[in-house]
Amino acid sequence: MKGSVSKPSKACRILICAAAAAIVLGEAASPAWGASAATPIVPAPTQTAEPLDKLSREHILASRKKLYEKAAAATHIPWYRIAAIDQYEHTLTKVHPKDRNHPKRLTGIFMNEPVWSGMFNPDPYDSNPRSIGIFNGYGKDGSGDGQADLNNDMDLLYSMASYLLRYGQSEEDFSIALWEYYHNSRSVQRIRQFSKLYEKFQTLDLSGHAFPLPISDSYAYRDTWGTGRSWGGYRIHEGTDIFAPYGMPVRSTCYGVVELKGWNPFGGWRIGIRDLENRYHYYAHLQGFEKTLNQGDIVTPGQTIGWVGSSGYGKPGTQGKFPPHLHYGIYRDNGLAEWSFDPYPLLRHWETEERQAIQKKKKKSSEQ
Ligand SMILES: [Zn+2]
Repeated sequence: MKGSVSKPSKACRILICAAAAAIVLGEAASPAWGASAATPIVPAPTQTAEPLDKLSREHILASRKKLYEKAAAATHIPWYRIAAIDQYEHTLTKVHPKDRNHPKRLTGIFMNEPVWSGMFNPDPYDSNPRSIGIFNGYGKDGSGDGQADLNNDMDLLYSMASYLLRYGQSEEDFSIALWEYYHNSRSVQRIRQFSKLYEKFQTLDLSGHAFPLPISDSYAYRDTWGTGRSWGGYRIHEGTDIFAPYGMPVRSTCYGVVELKGWNPFGGWRIGIRDLENRYHYYAHLQGFEKTLNQGDIVTPGQTIGWVGSSGYGKPGTQGKFPPHLHYGIYRDNGLAEWSFDPYPLLRHWETEERQAIQKKKKKSSEQ
């Protein structure tokens, strides 16, 4: 008998679904923040892609925070968790722009049509929140216009926050929800790190940077990107060596979370810090670590994390096989793997910025 029952047409199926949805949900299925969403914070970016480019960074961050807070108010999911997911998704779009192509908007969350409308939804472009709900799609209407639009900021954030709410509000519920959504332990770790940073500082503006050593004349570095290394087999040098005396403080270059700390035969005593751009900052050959610092701790730009040394190239504790220096590397995460890029331009930039700030301060104090 298999195959003898003719399938209803697509239009018919949609009608049946919509009718079923109306029966199940009734009229009570109105968006959680209904009328409050009627006043747009910024012009709807889906309709006006232009203005978004012209907005200042401060304005964009302020607008984003308001959106997160709105989604949080409607779902009781803390804003910093919603922000962390959104920021993580921004970083994914940066490295996968073609796979995650969408109109310019404030939010970074990206869902493709089947995920949004439901895997078995006969209409992959469905924007009816009720029929999407029937097919277990993520899409919901957060803006209050009756449509679940996969490029509307409010709809996206509200849909994501509602998904989190299904699991609960504890830290562990959050981790489980992330795991079920991404099926990738790296994603879970990154988003939890971001969430921790936003919760601690209560702001999205955490872009400050510092040079990894205190600004002075007693260090030297040049661009050694990609030069060969022979110890432990041929490798390419993935970083910049900053030569400095033993014991000079090594400082965090960014706001971040300590992801790794310990011994590695190549790097010696080394520490790895994750920032909100999903970059991994790697400091190697240290003499020692700042004792109070542990894995999972939050650091700020300029905070001492250890001291310049010459550890590495052997078993734990080996040192003195080369002159003391800080090896500084930076890696970008694409969600599945990490690759290093040349930190030299960034180091020069951060150094110049700090030198200028010091000059400015000196000038100001001499004028008083
Ligand atoms: Zn090096």
